[in-house]
Amino acid sequence: MERSIFGKMGDGADVELFTLKNARGTTAKIITYGATLQGLWVPDRTNQLSDVVLGFDDLKGYLGPHPYFGGTIGRYANRIARGKFTMDGREYPLAQNDGTHTLHGGREGFNRKLWKGEIVNGVRTESVQFTYVSADGEEGFPGTLKARVVYTLTDKDELKIDYTATTDRATPLNLTNHSYFNLAGSGDILGHALELNANQYTPVDATLVPTSEIEGVKGTPLDFTQPTTIGARIGQLVGNPGGYDHNFVLNGEGELKLAARVSDPDSGRLMEVWTTEPGVQFYSGNFLDGTIQGKAGVAYQKFAGLCLETQHYPDSVNHPNFPSTILHPGSTYHQETFLKFSAR
Ligand code: BGC
Repeated sequence: MERSIFGKMGDGADVELFTLKNARGTTAKIITYGATLQGLWVPDRTNQLSDVVLGFDDLKGYLGPHPYFGGTIGRYANRIARGKFTMDGREYPLAQNDGTHTLHGGREGFNRKLWKGEIVNGVRTESVQFTYVSADGEEGFPGTLKARVVYTLTDKDELKIDYTATTDRATPLNLTNHSYFNLAGSGDILGHALELNANQYTPVDATLVPTSEIEGVKGTPLDFTQPTTIGARIGQLVGNPGGYDHNFVLNGEGELKLAARVSDPDSGRLMEVWTTEPGVQFYSGNFLDGTIQGKAGVAYQKFAGLCLETQHYPDSVNHPNFPSTILHPGSTYHQETFLKFSAR
């Protein structure tokens, strides 16, 4: 593993870059700012490597405004309606950063914190571990939360992301990674084929917060139970969000299960997403509009990348019928997601 300096924060603190590389040349680059997946070089069917995640070449880009490229999201992935929830009879007001809602942890989520990075050696693998202590009251959330994210790259082209956390007071917690994938390495993702292991989804209102219902995907443009080209029905999703931005309810229980399979017919690259989480947010990059210049100065246009954010359902704290996201003192939060790459 290579360890280097990626940049410096305003106060002079170093932001480190950890580079994981396996025998096939597959390379994952992760920075301590936001425990962010900065680059992911994956072979195509002719063994050509391309970077399949959107982001920036330098720290300046990550410090500026951008829609969570590659970041670790916390304390709470996706929206908490009207920036508040009630727990044990007490109301907790949160930082509001999406109209009146709280999105991806608030004004300064975990993706905008400097994490501590360390190399950990396993029996046959090398991992990099990132830790961050979120203070009691940060963005309105209760309890001192100690979070740990471990990235491991295997020789089978799997990138594992393992999340653990503990708290000293009960708190909602919903961690995810917000990478935007483009398996072609450029252009848009409308020609990618997607399969989701989900018969149901959680419908949302016009401001993208869940209505509490859980509905079937059958007969809707959200039916990805068979591999389907993303662009084939995207035009049917009119109004907000103008594309896919939905939480899918994964089939199967808490065990590690397939969430999604996405492939690019041109390069032959295929990515599988496996997770212990009950849901996945499929977001097709609808709000990208060419105003952000990413790696190599490329302006990221609408649909330039897609996110598959494994998670608990959005706004679970306000929907008793959704699986609970409350972490209690004395318990350890543990979730795992891994990406498996191949080419055909
Ligand atoms: C959300 C989108 C949001 C995007 C951030 C996704 O996880 O579902 O609604 O706009 O993140 O840019």
